[in-house]
Amino acid sequence: MEKYTATVRGVTPLNDQVKLFRLEFEKPFEFQAGQFVILNITDADGNPQRRSYSIASSPKNKDYIELCIKIVSNGRVSSIMGQLQEGANIELDGPYGKFTVDKEQKKELLLIAAGVGIAPIRSLVLDLCETGYSQAVSLFFGFRYMNDCLFKDECLKLKQEFPNFNFYPIISRPEEDSENWMDVGHVNAVLPKYVNNAEGKEVYICGSLPMVKDVVSALEEIGFNREQIRTDAWG
Ligand SMILES: Cc1cc2nc3c(=O)[nH]c(=O)nc-3n(C[C@H](O)[C@H](O)[C@H](O)COP(=O)(O)OP(=O)(O)OC[C@H]3O[C@@H](n4cnc5c(N)ncnc54)[C@H](O)[C@@H]3O)c2cc1C
Repeated sequence: MEKYTATVRGVTPLNDQVKLFRLEFEKPFEFQAGQFVILNITDADGNPQRRSYSIASSPKNKDYIELCIKIVSNGRVSSIMGQLQEGANIELDGPYGKFTVDKEQKKELLLIAAGVGIAPIRSLVLDLCETGYSQAVSLFFGFRYMNDCLFKDECLKLKQEFPNFNFYPIISRPEEDSENWMDVGHVNAVLPKYVNNAEGKEVYICGSLPMVKDVVSALEEIGFNREQIRTDAWG
């Protein structure tokens, strides 16, 4: 796979744990929504490390990608990423992965994410909206606290602009200042409220392995078969 050097051109904290990085390329970087790159980073002990990160931006932009990274305090690579400043160079290769939508199938899409699993799903949402996907696209996004509702304003704006796009944020630990229009609980428990049959639908799920398993079980109870479900679980 081709190797690239990218330059950090933007670091935006999305909450106290997650940062959005904009990496710019000198030569065009082509990818499909839902794919990931592998960063080659030297850790604090001077050892080379490779870690996968989903591309969170739209494939229409070929001169940069955005990565949405949870900074794990004892994480060998994410902690280094957490300290990166504008102008730093990063070696990466890619794109990799098959968590991509065949838009020709014209299926109704359920996109389901939890936590930082929103990264590849955001890329899919942006691409589907920007290319005028003709079928309904519903995003179910599970998170713990209000400030974990990453890209909320962007999703609400897309919902206004694209009548085919629906946004269902689901908060598991609401507090006094939480927005009370949001569903409360876990994604697998809330899904049946909105999805009562599997006909003509395809599902994309990204999150931790336990979350993905719970959502797959909920979907199977509704009547989905495994061929309709694509998963991207990160352990
Ligand atoms: C295809 C793919 C796409 C991915 N995309 C993304 C992405 O878009 N954004 C992103 O943030 N990560 C993503 N990951 C996870 C990423 O590759 C790393 O595993 C993660 O950043 C931790 O790496 P690290 O070197 O910082 O931690 P490590 O040094 O590998 O691990 C240190 C400790 O952190 C724990 N840990 C690892 N991940 C988490 C976590 N998420 N929450 C809490 N504890 C954790 C480990 O169990 C371990 O105890 C993706 C993984 C895959 C396979």
